Amino acid sequence: MMIQNRENWLQLNGKPLIISGPCSAETEEQVLEAAHALKGKIDYFRAGIWKPRTMPNNFEGIGKDALQWMKKVKAETGLQTTVEVATPSHVHEAIKAGIDVLWVGARTTVNPFAVQDIADAVEGLDIPVFIKNPINPDIKLWMGAVERFRKAGITRIGLVHRGFSFLGEQKYRNRPNWQIAIEMMIEYPELPMIVDPSHICGNREMLQEVAQKAIDLNYDGLMLESHPTPNQAWSDAKQQVTPRRAIEIFESLVLRDSRQDDDLVQNDLDLLRSEIDELDADLLQLLGKRMEVSKRIGHFKKDKNITILQPKRWEEIVEKFIEQGAKHKLSKAFAVKLITAIHEESINNQEKIFRS
Ligand code: PEP
Ligand code: MN
Repeated sequence: MMIQNRENWLQLNGKPLIISGPCSAETEEQVLEAAHALKGKIDYFRAGIWKPRTMPNNFEGIGKDALQWMKKVKAETGLQTTVEVATPSHVHEAIKAGIDVLWVGARTTVNPFAVQDIADAVEGLDIPVFIKNPINPDIKLWMGAVERFRKAGITRIGLVHRGFSFLGEQKYRNRPNWQIAIEMMIEYPELPMIVDPSHICGNREMLQEVAQKAIDLNYDGLMLESHPTPNQAWSDAKQQVTPRRAIEIFESLVLRDSRQDDDLVQNDLDLLRSEIDELDADLLQLLGKRMEVSKRIGHFKKDKNITILQPKRWEEIVEKFIEQGAKHKLSKAFAVKLITAIHEESINNQEKIFRS
């Protein structure tokens, strides 16, 4: 089996591959309006027909009727089309409707049974399949999905980096964890990797920055959600932009012909810095959580009339900290300094509770 590399099946010629269109197909008018506005500016028109929603009462997509609208898109604009498939019957319906490219969503990539069912359904078909990263930061599941489609004889496979879920509120809706996508590129240098800034950001403000970052990291393109009236979108309203704004983002991307050594150094540095930023955010979130528990202890001590500082407990904490710190290659001096600062803040908080 001849695996096609990214240049020969996508014919990128140094240009990024652009996929855009609404998160969900909602009405025929909405789909056609978006497609006409994007015509000539993108490579593939996307729309979710079957939507994997976290909660059962959310809009779950129009279903196969919307495939007729995608057919119309193709007939009226000449744009190639792509939809998400999550079951074998989605595959059959999409193929019947002449969809050009299939994509597997993040909530499907996590499930090897579902991926295998889809791979079985496309076996013997000559259709490109894009695979989004699994929703959890597990590169093996992503690789496993690639292998399943390869085994099914799919020679045109693409990867979509859409970020990874995590607990708590942070800058991103789905944390990029760039290093996982880069590892995937190293593992599969022949496969195109595109970024999906919409699902990474979860808002409109950061889309351009994330798209440019991906281009700087030598990604092959992007998938960006666009909707004629984003605020009224039936799904993912906050992150969608108008087709006009989407085109502005595509046209504003600074492309690099051939990357200079300086760029490569800068990219490595940027990547490491992003990792540090994400870890710092984790640290602060954990410290905040720890402080909340400490406040609960403060209330408990106040109710039971127990003193705030209990020397024996404090000694235990310090010892444990030094021991666990050593396991993570942290010096004793640093471990003591750190826990002392954290403990001081805890005591201050508990004192406030005692005084209240
Ligand atoms: C989507 O592209 O609208 C979608 C559902 O994406 P993901 O699978 O990345 O959540
Ligand atoms: Mn979406």
